[in-house]
Amino acid sequence: MNRRDFLRVAAAGSALGMASMALPVYASVKASSSKKSQIKFKDDDLSDYLKKVRQYDEDHVGDVYFDEYNWGLLKSSLERFVRLQKMVGHGNFYLLDFDEALRLASTYPSVGEFTTPELNFLETLFYEQAAIYGFYGEKPLKNLTDRIPLREVVKVPNSGNYLYRGKPVETWEAIRKILGPDVVLTSGVRSVIKQFYLFLNKAYESGGNLSRASRSLAPPGYSFHGISDFDVGQAGYGQYNFTERFVLTKVYKTLRELGYLTLRYPRDNLLGVRFEPWHIKVGTRV
Ligand SMILES: [Zn+2]
Repeated sequence: MNRRDFLRVAAAGSALGMASMALPVYASVKASSSKKSQIKFKDDDLSDYLKKVRQYDEDHVGDVYFDEYNWGLLKSSLERFVRLQKMVGHGNFYLLDFDEALRLASTYPSVGEFTTPELNFLETLFYEQAAIYGFYGEKPLKNLTDRIPLREVVKVPNSGNYLYRGKPVETWEAIRKILGPDVVLTSGVRSVIKQFYLFLNKAYESGGNLSRASRSLAPPGYSFHGISDFDVGQAGYGQYNFTERFVLTKVYKTLRELGYLTLRYPRDNLLGVRFEPWHIKVGTRV
């Protein structure tokens, strides 16, 4: 990757079609001298913000979209990720790092080498401040090439997912002991690549609306699935595990009662993210 190319694109300000993207008028983001970005509201603009995160999967005034050029790159990159996932297998894809993904893509014709415009697109998206399109969470994975150290994760039987050793696995095992077969691990460790795939897929489904995508899925680098967190569900509940109906389940009620549900994204949080009652905040693994 030619760093200067990227900087030139970024300096031109149109890399993601966000040329005129001043921050929405209702919000300002503190310079990140502290770790956390913070959102501040002018008086009653809070109600506009809350409407967006409650109606997270709709288009709203002020949402930020990819331009036509980058919409094309989103589609071609996403298709390549789909082929890559098929080639390496679902489980391995959770742990795949960026450099290895590039190497595999260029080695296997069934995937095909990432083009320079695609790489510029992915790099720009990764390093762009997500606050520009309305996501205000922290960024635990700072580098595009950050890896999941394989010795630090374990595969969780019958789930296809991985968890970090230490607190995440201990938390999961405690939960599993309490709830037995009622509880399922719906998502564990996710690499930068896996998060790219999920985020681009959501952005595609959202018609290129980055803001809408980021209300449901953390942009690559910003997901705590990269360092510790995981999602739980009620066995047999399928996709409802990822809706507010999850709060009606035995799993949710039990975990809440016992104090296990420290949520990363509580209802009406100020991070620009929808309510995610299934997402367990583990914190850092050390
Ligand atoms: Zn989650």
